[in-house]
Amino acid sequence: MKAFEYATALSTDSARELVGANGAYLPGGNDLLALMKEYLVDPKRLVNIKSLPGMDKIQSGAKGWTIGALATVAEIEDHQELAKAHPGLQQAAAEVGSRQIRNVATVGGNLAQHSRCWYFRHRDTVCLKKNGDLCYARNGENRYHSLFTGNPCISPVVSSLATTFAALDATAVVLHEGAETRMSMAELYHRAWENPLAHNSLENGDLILRVEIPVARSRSTYMQVSDKHAFDWALVSCAAAAEVTDGKLKSPRVALGSISPVPHQVEAANSFLEGKVLDDAIATQAADMILKDAKPLEHNAYKVPMAHALIRRALLKLKGDA
Ligand SMILES: Cc1cc2nc3c(=O)[nH]c(=O)nc-3n(C[C@H](O)[C@H](O)[C@H](O)COP(=O)(O)OP(=O)(O)OC[C@H]3O[C@@H](n4cnc5c(N)ncnc54)[C@H](O)[C@@H]3O)c2cc1C
Repeated sequence: MKAFEYATALSTDSARELVGANGAYLPGGNDLLALMKEYLVDPKRLVNIKSLPGMDKIQSGAKGWTIGALATVAEIEDHQELAKAHPGLQQAAAEVGSRQIRNVATVGGNLAQHSRCWYFRHRDTVCLKKNGDLCYARNGENRYHSLFTGNPCISPVVSSLATTFAALDATAVVLHEGAETRMSMAELYHRAWENPLAHNSLENGDLILRVEIPVARSRSTYMQVSDKHAFDWALVSCAAAAEVTDGKLKSPRVALGSISPVPHQVEAANSFLEGKVLDDAIATQAADMILKDAKPLEHNAYKVPMAHALIRRALLKLKGDA
């Protein structure tokens, strides 16, 4: 690992100042320190943000739930009131890595974690994500990669929390150049959709302060399939959320992870589901719509039926059938 300076920030302003142009925020360090040990990133200064006041709170209010960026994934998993309000979020949190990782991993770090693409993670491979000329996964080992992308890089977003936050229509509140800006999950990852160098839309120095979840959807669920039952990222993940009144869906949303550089959502499918009473045929039609434009590669075509099954199951679970 290359030498670096270390500083502790006690306010968001000082965090921003300390991180400067070449530093990185350090909350849990799960991803950041691994990237540094592999010489994939070399921040000149690590800014410990764990002491920033109030940023680890999980609170509810009239408009919904607010989750501070320094809340840990384990705290989400263990929060009983939050689990009642948004079971899908609790289920997603419980699937992250292992309990040891969840105890340390923060919400902000989970959302801002970097690509898991093994070509990107190989220190000697200069792929598109590292300013090279080629996406080696495209014609290489692409079993973990995207079915959708807006650029030649096929590395998907793997944050389990992002998938659920997208289905819950949550907003990330980000401190950008001294002012708070609000980003949907689609906006938080949009730059990765169009630019192979990006893992998300954050600029250097942007600080995720909190995530806000509106009250609109009282039912939610999250499911994933992984190679291993624990200590592993999802091959495909799916979250669904809605209000269900007299059996009819209101404000339904479905989002998928690990198949696109952004949490994959298809507005037409959400509109199609609005007001519907769920049954297997409706869930199947929605899944068809969501996956219609998938572009599988040589080794990841298995993700299409896997995603299809997860969407159907997640939707039927919203109704209580699966
Ligand atoms: C074996 C294993 C299995 C895993 N499985 C899963 C899984 O199934 N699902 C999943 O989602 N994750 C999984 N993870 C990833 C893990 O959840 C993340 O590495 C962790 O959540 C990162 O959080 P952290 O606080 O440690 O972030 P750090 O590593 O400290 O930071 C990560 C990045 O985010 C930036 N950052 C952190 N906080 C902020 C902020 N508030 N504002 C702006 N930028 C910020 C940092 O500067 C850094 O670039 C797994 C990890 C391991 C090791």
